[in-house]
Amino acid sequence: MNYKMWINGEWMDADSGRTYPVINPANGEEIAQVPLGGKTDVEKAVAAAKNAFPAWSAKSQAERSAIVNTIGQAIRENIEELAMLDCLDHGTPITTARRMVMGAVVNLEYNANTARSLMGDVIPISPNSFHSFIREPVGVCALIIPWNVPLIMIGAKLGAALSVGNTCIVKPPSIDSLAALKFAEILHNLDIPKGAINIITGPGSTVGEAIASHPDVDLISFTGSCETGKDIMEKSSNSIKRLVLELGGKNPFIVLEDADLEAAVERAVFSSYNNTGMVCASPGRYYINEKYHDQFVDMFVEKAKKITVGDPLDENTWMGPVVSTEHRDKVEYYIQSGIDEGAKLILGGKRPDNPPLDKGCFVMPTVFTNVTQNMKIAREEIFGPVACIMKFSSEDEVIDLANDTSFGLCASVWTKDITKAMKFAKKINAGAVWINDHLTISPEMPWGGFKESGIGKENSVIGLEEFTQLKLIAMNLA
Ligand code: NAD
Repeated sequence: MNYKMWINGEWMDADSGRTYPVINPANGEEIAQVPLGGKTDVEKAVAAAKNAFPAWSAKSQAERSAIVNTIGQAIRENIEELAMLDCLDHGTPITTARRMVMGAVVNLEYNANTARSLMGDVIPISPNSFHSFIREPVGVCALIIPWNVPLIMIGAKLGAALSVGNTCIVKPPSIDSLAALKFAEILHNLDIPKGAINIITGPGSTVGEAIASHPDVDLISFTGSCETGKDIMEKSSNSIKRLVLELGGKNPFIVLEDADLEAAVERAVFSSYNNTGMVCASPGRYYINEKYHDQFVDMFVEKAKKITVGDPLDENTWMGPVVSTEHRDKVEYYIQSGIDEGAKLILGGKRPDNPPLDKGCFVMPTVFTNVTQNMKIAREEIFGPVACIMKFSSEDEVIDLANDTSFGLCASVWTKDITKAMKFAKKINAGAVWINDHLTISPEMPWGGFKESGIGKENSVIGLEEFTQLKLIAMNLA
């Protein structure tokens, strides 16, 4: 099947006429061709969004919110097809893929509805003046999407940007763009003003860079790797764009000696292998109190062994392949580096050798123990189904270890002692700290990292406000 980009409400091929193949990671087969967009395609999309901005931003809030809700409803009606595309294109197990499509709906609806209660304020400076500030949309927003959860991200970013009056260019990930192009088809059948949303495909190195350096793009909301985030900061600096960057993490999962071990293991296994470990918030480092370390490891391994790895289309599959052969190479590079640096591989570390899984990009659930803080697998984001388990003896030591990283996305602490839990929550240098939980994210919760994990927040009223700019209006009444 050949897909097209959606620019100014019309289907378009890339100016170059070129396309590139989309490969199903579960079996290596080509499933579609999508346009290989480039700089001139970006220019068209930006011009369309710029043209559409005055009329879209002038609509009443109620009307914009209603349109965004209509998009949510239309996605809801197409769950099965969108989930199937995510399954074929990304390898997401079908049951998880359905939940992810619903995640997009929930994000759109949350933003559409919350935008209706955003407020400005009045500043009581003197009786002879009236000082107030109001929120205005920023303009043309570029929404650059990663491949790990593309529809959820589109729902969150597009829902927020559009609801408050911006127009958008959506750049789906190059290796996982089918669900976004199906989404364009859904939009095409709705009454969306031309140019308010544009969807353009192609590699980050050309399309992404052209967006980042385009002078008429006012805001970039980017989710992806730290390296790309840094590049976008550099490219966008010439026109001082607003940036919201949601980047990588190496998130500590800390189990104290009084934790409910069963609950911790249950959540740990889910968090490590959900979406084949390709989740920014996955636990990248486990720190287990030395007294319970061995017991935790035994329980973890026993549970991880029961994970059903298989064809993403099978309703019983819980874990599918990683997204591509290149990504499998990267995960395997980290597994080898763990072995070379002296960590003990106690589960997985291999591809399945039984057909038909041997043809796909599968990596079995993997567990390392004897990991030390300076190993690559303890410091760098693997973004795959690999759990790295370490032990600690004192609470102060583990807080230092947890903070010894350039990342600061999220963390969790497991304990029955609320005072200890709050001590950890305050001392850990990360944008989110769960207590007796991990990986629960919802549209109401502001999400965004500290340090190299990002700038700004997504989700919640705070995330919505990122897509607005504050204007002061000062009136002399004297
Ligand atoms: P990536 O940085 O390779 O790509 C992300 C997007 O940026 C893609 O659409 C890509 O085409 C585009 N891109 C690539 N190079 C570009 C450039 N030079 N200029 C502009 N755009 C460019 O990331 P990925 O591999 O798709 O996603 C995985 C990463 O995303 C991980 O690091 C993960 O932690 C992170 N992530 C973070 C969050 C969060 O909320 N913090 C959520 C999901 C994923």
